Amino acid sequence: MDRQDIASFTYEEIQEEMKKIGEKPFRGRQIYEWIHVRSADDFSEMTNLSRELREKLSLHYRIPQMKVAAHQVSRKDPTEKFLFELEDGNMIESVLMKYEYGNSVCISSQAGCRMGCRFCASAIGGLKRSLLASEMLRQVYQVQKCCKERVSNIVVMGTGEPLDNYENFVRFVHMISDEHGLHISQRSITASTCGIVPGIQRLAGEGLQITLALSLHGSTQEKRKALMPVANKYALPEVLAACDYYFEKTGRRITFEYSLVKGVNDQPEDIRELTALLKHRNCHVNLIPVNPVKERTFRRPSYENAVEFKNKLEKNGINVTIRRERGSDIDGACGQLRRRYAADHKGETDEIICDD
Ligand code: SAH
Repeated sequence: MDRQDIASFTYEEIQEEMKKIGEKPFRGRQIYEWIHVRSADDFSEMTNLSRELREKLSLHYRIPQMKVAAHQVSRKDPTEKFLFELEDGNMIESVLMKYEYGNSVCISSQAGCRMGCRFCASAIGGLKRSLLASEMLRQVYQVQKCCKERVSNIVVMGTGEPLDNYENFVRFVHMISDEHGLHISQRSITASTCGIVPGIQRLAGEGLQITLALSLHGSTQEKRKALMPVANKYALPEVLAACDYYFEKTGRRITFEYSLVKGVNDQPEDIRELTALLKHRNCHVNLIPVNPVKERTFRRPSYENAVEFKNKLEKNGINVTIRRERGSDIDGACGQLRRRYAADHKGETDEIICDD
């Protein structure tokens, strides 16, 4: 019999599970606390359970393991990057960003990605597999454990498309915000999607309070298609209608992400088109000067041009910011550490500061 992943059971489910194996539900509550509050990664750590029970648990269940393969600390800004190795050898990355208001962790939702965005490093190797809810949770727990700092915000903007791993992603949101776990407010969670329309519509009905970020990147269907293959499947008007629906159902303002690519989507006509698209929408635009990826030819506009782009949008009544660059010295852009590791891994890792 395959041992089930006990770390992906919700607080309610784990109590039901204990009943199934003839234990009292409160054992489930104890185990939940060990895994989700105390970051235990093995039954042997659960010292308030009898040895017999721990042995029984390890017969029925497993806690998926995750090793820190590399940990890089930026010298430029308060940013740390983690490369984790999953049980099956797949690699994922997470980023810790420290702000005045608290610590934010950017997590991956899949190992690899099948969305194929032209400027994105994560798309290069394709999708390996989707992550379990417990593997998304564990990224946050490991970062906390390693840095001994509490995490208050989560962005699901690492490798992968969360809405391509819908059930596990929603389960993750419920569990990370559960009062019996880390209890991170849903309002402090942002998930980014490339625009999977049925996923956005379904998410709108989940009763969650998370912020949805939509990767827009182009102001017309044609321009979006040139950068994002997913636009062939879900056209821009449908995507925007789904975003409007999300706002209507949840009251949560949408963030539109727009990666600025020199000569491709940073022209005066883009400002006009973006304004027409967004000015009647209650939203926020986040401009990201594209991070150059070795395997891609895209270039970013100069900082001055990005600021000019922002100012013009602002003048047109659009609520807009430029994303502050973080961790550029530690392969800060999505999927780059993972790519580099795959390309030139010779057994040793980058600077390992924390290893457990
Ligand atoms: N699959 C989700 C999450 C991807 S990563 C999505 O598509 O939204 C989060 C954001 O970073 C997305 O907006 C993505 O398009 C953007 N991104 C990816 N690679 C980038 C790069 N090289 N430079 C700038 N932004 C990038």
